[in-house]
Amino acid sequence: MFDKILIANRGEIACRVMRTARNMGIRTVAVYSDADRDALHVAMADEAVHIGAAPSRDSYLNVDNVINAARKTGAQAIHPGYGFLSENPAFCRACRDHQITFIGPPIGAIEAMGSKSAAKTIMEAAGVPLVPGYHGEDQSAAILRQASDDMGYPVLLKAAAGGGGKGMRQVWSGAEFDAALAAAKRESLNAFGDDTMLVEKYLTRPRHVEIQVFCDGNGNAVYLFERDCSVQRRHQKVIEEAPAPGMTPQLREAMGQAAIKAAVAIAYEGAGTVEFLLDHDGAFYFMEMNTRLQVEHPVTEMITGQDLVEWQIRVASGEDLPLAQSELSIRGHAFEARIYAEDADNDFLPVTGTLAFLQPPQTGAHVRVDTGVRQGDEVSVFYDPMIAKLIVWDEDRDKALNRLTRALSEYRISGTTTNIDFLYNLANCPPFRRAELDTGFIEKHHAELFRDTARDIESDLPLAALYLLLRQQRTGPLPSGSSNGKDPTSPWNLNNAWRSVEDNIHTLDIVLHDTAYTVELEQQHSGATTRYIIRHHDSVVAAQGVLEGSRLRAEFDGYQFSATVAEHDGLCSLYTAGGAVTFKRAMPDLGGADQVDSTGGLLAPMNGTMVALLVDVGATVKKGDALLVMEAMKMEHTIRAPADGEVVSFYYAAGELVDGGAELLEFSASE
Ligand code: ADP
Repeated sequence: MFDKILIANRGEIACRVMRTARNMGIRTVAVYSDADRDALHVAMADEAVHIGAAPSRDSYLNVDNVINAARKTGAQAIHPGYGFLSENPAFCRACRDHQITFIGPPIGAIEAMGSKSAAKTIMEAAGVPLVPGYHGEDQSAAILRQASDDMGYPVLLKAAAGGGGKGMRQVWSGAEFDAALAAAKRESLNAFGDDTMLVEKYLTRPRHVEIQVFCDGNGNAVYLFERDCSVQRRHQKVIEEAPAPGMTPQLREAMGQAAIKAAVAIAYEGAGTVEFLLDHDGAFYFMEMNTRLQVEHPVTEMITGQDLVEWQIRVASGEDLPLAQSELSIRGHAFEARIYAEDADNDFLPVTGTLAFLQPPQTGAHVRVDTGVRQGDEVSVFYDPMIAKLIVWDEDRDKALNRLTRALSEYRISGTTTNIDFLYNLANCPPFRRAELDTGFIEKHHAELFRDTARDIESDLPLAALYLLLRQQRTGPLPSGSSNGKDPTSPWNLNNAWRSVEDNIHTLDIVLHDTAYTVELEQQHSGATTRYIIRHHDSVVAAQGVLEGSRLRAEFDGYQFSATVAEHDGLCSLYTAGGAVTFKRAMPDLGGADQVDSTGGLLAPMNGTMVALLVDVGATVKKGDALLVMEAMKMEHTIRAPADGEVVSFYYAAGELVDGGAELLEFSASE
C-alpha cells in the first residue's frame, strides 16, 4: 500500500479523495493554482504544491507541473479525480515514465474509450448492444447523410471526441441534415480539436442508466449496480439516483453482465462506468464508458455501503477487489443533487460570486454533503461552478426523496445565485415522485418546475406577505433605538407593526417572478389569537401564522401547512410541499425617491451586523442623511434616508446580527 498519494484535482473531489486516503492512513499531497492558494482542498492536505496560474491549462491540466509536484513530495501514486487529467493518456504515460502509479485504468483502456466511434467498434465486437447508427471512418457528408436517411429520422449527430454534451445535434428530417452537421462539426472542432462525427438513432425519451463496474489486475470484475441519471439539462446530469426505479432483477443482471463484458473487452482495471440508454421497451444500448470515478459515485456508495475511492486505491496498489459479486447487495435508495452557482431562470447559465453565507443542512447517516468550498470562498470564472453535492439515503425511494427536499430547503447560501430552488421544485414535483423519468424530463415539465403560472402566484403571494409581516413583527419588541427610558411595555414603544387601529392594515409591495404586486394584510386580534385577512386583486384569504426560526406554520382558510424559509441577498425563498417560491419586498415607493443609496436602502444589503444607529427614533431627516451603519463581508455599509422624512423606528440594536434583505427600519417620508 502507498504511504503518500497526490491528488491532481481541486474542489469537492479532491477533498473526497483525501478523506478516504486519511482514513486509510495514507498521507496526501494537494496541488493548487494561484486562485486556490487558500482553498479547502489545500488546507485538508498534509502537503500542497503550487502548480501554476489560475487557468486550468496552466495548472491542473499541466502534465509536467503535476508530475514535478509528485516527484518533489515523493508521492508514489496520483489520484486524478474526474475531469482535468483523469482520462488523458499522455498524463498516464508521464506517470509510468516516472514510476508513479496512476490510480485509474491502464493507458490502453483509456485510449480505447477515448473516441466514441472506436469504443463502439470494440463494443460491437464484444457483443455489447449498441444504439443503431454509423460510426465508420469514412466521414464524407454524403455517407453520414445516407446512413441517417437509411436509419430514419430523428437521428443524433455526436462528436466522436465528445463530452459534456458538446458537438451534439438532433436532426429531425433530411432537410435539416446539412446545417446540423456543419454546426456539430464546428462545435466539436472548437471544443476538442477534432470533428469526427458519428450518427445514432435518436431515441425519444429514453432513460440514462449507467452501471458502475470495478476490475482488479488479477482477473476479477464486478458491477456495483446501476444509477439512473435521466434528469438532465443540456445533456448534463442534475439529480441522480440509485437504484434505478422500476429495475427488475433480470434487467439489472443483463445490464450488469453487458457492462462487465465491455470492461473485460478493454482489459479494464479500477473504477469505470458503462453508460446505457434504456428504452421504453426495456431494450438497452451502450453509449460510452467513462474510465474514471463519476461525479455521482456517492449514490452507489450509499446503497452498497462501500467506499469506491478506497476500492480504487486498493486495486491500484495491486490488491484484489475487496468483495465478490455475490457479496454485494443493494440497501435502500439514494439521491444526489448537484448544487451549482447557476441561474436556472436564465437557461442554467453559470454565475460567479463570493459565498458570503454558507450553511449546509445537518449531515449524518441520512444526509451527506461533498463539497470543496467554505463560507467566504469564491466561485470564480476559472473552474466548474459546482458548490456541493447533496447526497441523501433512506430505506426506500419515497423516504429518501423526503430527505432530499428537506435537506434542500435547509441549505443556506448567499452571495451567488444557486439552483437550489430549482432542485427543490424538481425533487418535489409529482412526476418525479412517481419516477416518470426520461432524459426529456425538464423540458416536459417546464411549467411545473419554473412555477410561473397564475395559479402559483395566487397561492404564493399571500404566503409571502404573511411571512414578511411575521418576520418584521418578530424583530420586536426591542427598546427602539435611542428611546431607552420609555416604558418598554407600551405598545407605542414596540417596533413591531402594532400601532393603532388604522395601523392594523399593512400594505406590502412584493416582487414575484419579476412583477410587483401589492398585498394588503388586515390584522385582527381576538383574545390571544391574531388573524390576518390577506387581500390582493380579487382574492381574499383568512390566515394565521407562526414563525419559529426558519419554519413558518400557516393556516389559510382552514388548511394548515408549514414552509421553510431561507433569506439570501435580499431575496426570500419559501419551500412548501408545492415547491419553492422566491420573492423580495419591493422598495417602498417614496415619491420618486428611487435614488436610494447604492449600499442597499432600507433593506440590509447582505447578512451582517448592525454597527451603529446614527439618529434618534423620531428624528426628522433630509434625503441622503446617514441613518445607520452595518458591517457585512468585512465592509461597512451606510444606509441613508431615501427621502426627506421621519425615522419611525429601528428594527435592530447595535451589535445584533441581521439577515441579508431584512428590513432595517421603519421610515415615513414627508408628503
Ligand atoms: P457526452 O459524452 O457529451 O456527455 P453522451 O454520449 O454521454 O454525451 O450523451 C449524453 C446524453 O445525451 C445522454 O445521457 C442522453 O440523455 C442523450 N443521448 C445520447 N445519445 C442519445 C441517443 N442516441 N438518443 C437519445 N438521447 C441520447
